[in-house]
Amino acid sequence: MDRMDERFPNLEVLFSTGAGVDQFEITDIPPNIHLVRLIDPAIVDGMREYVTMAALLLQRQMIDYLWAKSRGCWQPLAPNMAADVTVGIMGFGVLGQAVLGALKPLGFRLRAWSRSLHDDDGVDCFAGANRLHDFASGCNIVVCLLPLTDATRGILDRRLFDAMPRGASLINVGRGGHLRENDLLAALEDAQLSGAVLDVFDEEPLPADHPFWTHERVVLTPHVASTTGHESGAAALIENIRRHQRGESMIGLVDRESGY
Ligand code: NDP
Repeated sequence: MDRMDERFPNLEVLFSTGAGVDQFEITDIPPNIHLVRLIDPAIVDGMREYVTMAALLLQRQMIDYLWAKSRGCWQPLAPNMAADVTVGIMGFGVLGQAVLGALKPLGFRLRAWSRSLHDDDGVDCFAGANRLHDFASGCNIVVCLLPLTDATRGILDRRLFDAMPRGASLINVGRGGHLRENDLLAALEDAQLSGAVLDVFDEEPLPADHPFWTHERVVLTPHVASTTGHESGAAALIENIRRHQRGESMIGLVDRESGY
């Protein structure tokens, strides 16, 4: 295969048009070429809305009510108040922080897990692989907002689901590669988990015969949790090109070592 710097000898920067860079094989990009992800207010706003919608859907037992509706069954459940529900965000980055900010005023108890330890008023913060299961053990809803890297691929697995309280649920808005899909199906089957809201999948579009399509405890959307805004995305890109021309650091510069 061509080396990128031989094919494009004047290339200085590779810009991702999305928040992630998992579409690139980072090791194939010569070290003199900067890799920059997109930090776009439209992506942030979309994710804030989507995760709020999904957390409320799960907390307000909508999966049970949709099931009851499909059977014409009028069945009030005991209320489940936000103040009694802990939402844990995997990833305390641009998107994780925006989502925490949106969930706070709704009264949820909040946790966050990341690589390095952060500090946020009203959020129980955890860091590092050795604290993942401690983090998960107190979460009624886990939200994956991690980048897909070698360290995070397959992180939503049976061990994580078993560490969560029985009947907890999952929101995956990271990448399909984070989730071991068969582990989720097994955890739903034996009621260790009670529901999942999924926006991203191993194979997209999700194959027509995939069991998620018909699963009563899975709500799914076709990778639309948030999308790049044409104008705001272009403005962010132009601002970074200007920064690069002035010799300043670009916003969203990817660290080769960590892969995000
Ligand atoms: P950021 O780079 O700003 O944040 C990433 C967060 O993940 C950081 O808090 C980082 O920890 C944490 N993290 C990374 N690796 C690990 C690890 N091995 N263990 C624990 N924590 C880790 O990313 P964004 O918030 O902007 O975006 C996150 C992801 O959301 C994107 O990469 C993309 O995959 C997904 N996304 C999905 C969309 C959709 O429509 N479904 C749309 C947009 C994004 P630390 O703080 O210590 O660095």
